[in-house]
Amino acid sequence: MKFNQSNIKKAKKYLNKNYCIGVPTETVYGLAANAYSNYAVKKIFRLKKRPKSNPLIVHYSNINDLKKDCLINNNFLKLYKKFSPGPLTYVLNLKKNSKISKVVTNKDNSLAVRFPKHKIFKQLLNKLDYPLAAPSANISTRLSSVQASDVNEEFGNSIKYVLDGGKCSIGLESTIIDLTNKPRILRLGGLEVSKIEKILGKKLKININPKKKISPGQSQLHYSPGIPLRMNVIKPKKNEAYILVKKKKISPSNYFYLSKKNNLKEAAKNLYSFLRKIKNEGYKSIAVEKVQNIGIGQSINDRLKRASKF
Ligand code: AMP
Ligand code: MG
Repeated sequence: MKFNQSNIKKAKKYLNKNYCIGVPTETVYGLAANAYSNYAVKKIFRLKKRPKSNPLIVHYSNINDLKKDCLINNNFLKLYKKFSPGPLTYVLNLKKNSKISKVVTNKDNSLAVRFPKHKIFKQLLNKLDYPLAAPSANISTRLSSVQASDVNEEFGNSIKYVLDGGKCSIGLESTIIDLTNKPRILRLGGLEVSKIEKILGKKLKININPKKKISPGQSQLHYSPGIPLRMNVIKPKKNEAYILVKKKKISPSNYFYLSKKNNLKEAAKNLYSFLRKIKNEGYKSIAVEKVQNIGIGQSINDRLKRASKF
């Protein structure tokens, strides 16, 4: 990782000029722009080929800045105290006088917000006079980026700069909770739902595949490596890449172990980079061993299921 203060200054310079840049977060890399600028934010949609109807997550460095734009409530405060900064995104109601670009929210009056934990991203946010809209740094429906080189692979010269912050420590997108009404989960992600339920003291409605889509992360095809993927495979076909969590005694060249010790967190961290690597090595299809559907394993299975719709 090549990082120093002058890189943060460079990032700030581009953002102040309304460019989009790649930024590191603990979940996945983001494609960031000034959330108060219609002009800057429109570029995010263009670059990602993202439908305008899909709103963006806005990143804040602290709660006081958030309060300028959003209305907060008790559930938010309980969760914020426990989980922020970190991989939890809150959907809140916007204030009438909020400066958030209408392009970010597709004119809706709710806003998805997150407080990132990644040190470099936090340092950058602290130096800016505006929050950053930053969806995942990938072309829509494709794999998210978990290192600076992935962002370059996705966008090449069409973006000015990627702030390199090393490999993402979580490797999956944030969990999204809607707090505008009765709390409900809109996306499984880096924070386990059971931990959120513990703090709120109740079971949460999981609304990740609604008939009427609220989030693009809810679309059936998403997070796709661009080649077919099969789940719960016991025996892979010849020439197929085989992804496993549990280490077996054998390691043929087409076997890819997501974890050294059957650890689901480590598996989540490696998932996207393995999928990208397998595609780049020229495999034509991917088989995945059954992944335990507990804790972060549920988020892994959610992503695999959507990737398998290719
Ligand atoms: P990404 O940053 O690429 O992971 O995508 C952001 C996710 O947050 C998408 O699934 C969005 O639809 C979701 N999102 C953003 N704003 C809202 C909102 N106001 N209500 C519901 N979901 C949202
Ligand atoms: Mg995304």
